[in-house]
Amino acid sequence: MGEIILKKGEDRRIKSGHLWIFNNEIEEVRDFMPDDPILKIVSAEGRVLGTGYYNKHSLIAARILSWKDESIDRAFLLRRIKEAKNLRESLYPDLNCYRLVYSEADFLPGLIIDKYNEYFSIQILTTGMEYLTPLILEALNELAGPAGVILKNDSSFRTLENLQLYVKVASGEIPRTVEIDERGIRYKVDLLEGQKTGFFCDQKENRLLLRDISRGKKILDCFSYTGGFALNALKGDAASVMAVDSSSRALELLTENAALNGYEKKLTIEKADCFDKLKELRGERFDIIVLDPPAFIKSKNKVKEGIKGYIEINISAMKMLAPRGVLVTCSCSYHLSEDDFLAMLRISAGRSRRQFRLSRLTSQAPYHPVLLAMPETRYLKCAFLQAVN
Ligand code: SAH
Repeated sequence: MGEIILKKGEDRRIKSGHLWIFNNEIEEVRDFMPDDPILKIVSAEGRVLGTGYYNKHSLIAARILSWKDESIDRAFLLRRIKEAKNLRESLYPDLNCYRLVYSEADFLPGLIIDKYNEYFSIQILTTGMEYLTPLILEALNELAGPAGVILKNDSSFRTLENLQLYVKVASGEIPRTVEIDERGIRYKVDLLEGQKTGFFCDQKENRLLLRDISRGKKILDCFSYTGGFALNALKGDAASVMAVDSSSRALELLTENAALNGYEKKLTIEKADCFDKLKELRGERFDIIVLDPPAFIKSKNKVKEGIKGYIEINISAMKMLAPRGVLVTCSCSYHLSEDDFLAMLRISAGRSRRQFRLSRLTSQAPYHPVLLAMPETRYLKCAFLQAVN
């Protein structure tokens, strides 16, 4: 096995539990074999810190897989995935849809596995994990006996690692849609052509919070996708829900999901750009508005540009809230810190000339765990803002 020797003092972050090593922290790479990215991580003083993988083309040149000097084989991956599964089962014993493996937070950097009933959707985000893919598939087969596994390797993150984008059925068969149940609501999920791995499990708890406050309310769900928030509002007995999204496929599934649950009557579905729709609806008033847009900030140098987008939709929504209405506003941009998210909301509130109480500030569901030593693993921000008047 090759070795990465760190520069003097550059082992500090690793020792505090962080899993990344940047290019400029490496003194030397020894005995590297291009077809095997697994290496030992060694401090300047010669102490072995752990085992990880290396990609010289990436800014994050190495990521730790283990704090020991050990071989990264099928048994290792099986153990890691099993630990991840145990954690999920202890959190939610009765759920059939959740994030089984969340990358760094499960000490499997670059690997995402989402479970949709007996089907699994995998995203591989780094070269090191791409190399381990055959072993990961074997381990998952042994552990879960899946009906079908799909490699949904079309994330733009892969281009940062010089990886090709592709979608491929890895084993079994993937039907056109897979049905899941999330807290009493049935959803059809399109694993082949859906966005990300097919469904946004990370919002599970926030959707339940919306369900709790929906009774009798007139609700607007912007960026609805296949209805995660809209259907929860209806389950919570909302008076009416308008769902808006620009994706035809997402709205096709939302229509099917509404029928599946018997919620068609109070639901209006609009295919539109939400920026335009919010302007068009300017004169209307809603008791609750949900904003769950895609990540507007895709890289560190796009923060300013992205914030403008968030401000625009938040101002529009704030102005359209009925007296004491609630705005449920989210950002999944990993480059936007919670502080900057709140600052963005303060600016939006100021410009909309309304005052709000921050009644809740939440994040991703705990099956997308946050590693305390790695703030980067906490990406979702969701604020419940109640208008003061
Ligand atoms: N709230 C959803 C997830 C939203 S994902 C849930 O709970 O499942 C973001 C959604 O925004 C996607 O469905 C995407 O199609 C949609 N989208 C992206 N840009 C948009 C735009 N400018 N206008 C409307 N919808 C947009």
